[in-house]
Amino acid sequence: MTIQQKKVVSFHYTLTNQEGDQLESSRDSEPMSYLHGANNIIPGLEKAMVGKSSGDAFQVTVEPAEAYGERKDANIQRISAKHFKKPKRLVPGQIVGLQTQQGPIQVTVVKVGRFNVDVDANHPLAGQALTFDVEVMDVRDASDEETTHGHVHGPGGVDH
Ligand code: ZN
Repeated sequence: MTIQQKKVVSFHYTLTNQEGDQLESSRDSEPMSYLHGANNIIPGLEKAMVGKSSGDAFQVTVEPAEAYGERKDANIQRISAKHFKKPKRLVPGQIVGLQTQQGPIQVTVVKVGRFNVDVDANHPLAGQALTFDVEVMDVRDASDEETTHGHVHGPGGVDH
């Protein structure tokens, strides 16, 4: 069975940046599962999956535009310290959750001042070309419910 629309794909991956540093790996846990064609994973990786089948292993390098986007300076913002639960405990480089009018987001702390905190709302992997070493573990048909919901149910997916 090859990967195409309405297939559920389970795969192992190791993610490295252009410096060769390993950023993430699924190898220590269960394979990742996603519904193909539902924007569950980054576009560049999803494109590279098309036509592969169980047992295939491959490597793909994805440019920022097809991954987590370019970094934007406008995403670095100064926020009043009162919006944080324990502002004095924040340290630069820390990733914290923040409530916004668009919903919860993850930001990286850049600088902690007395009254304000500078945060970077760019995705930590924005602006980076990413190399994925992928091994496809399983490909199956998505259920009607999964197709309707736009995500995978059961192991590696949403439980509800
Ligand atoms: Zn669901």
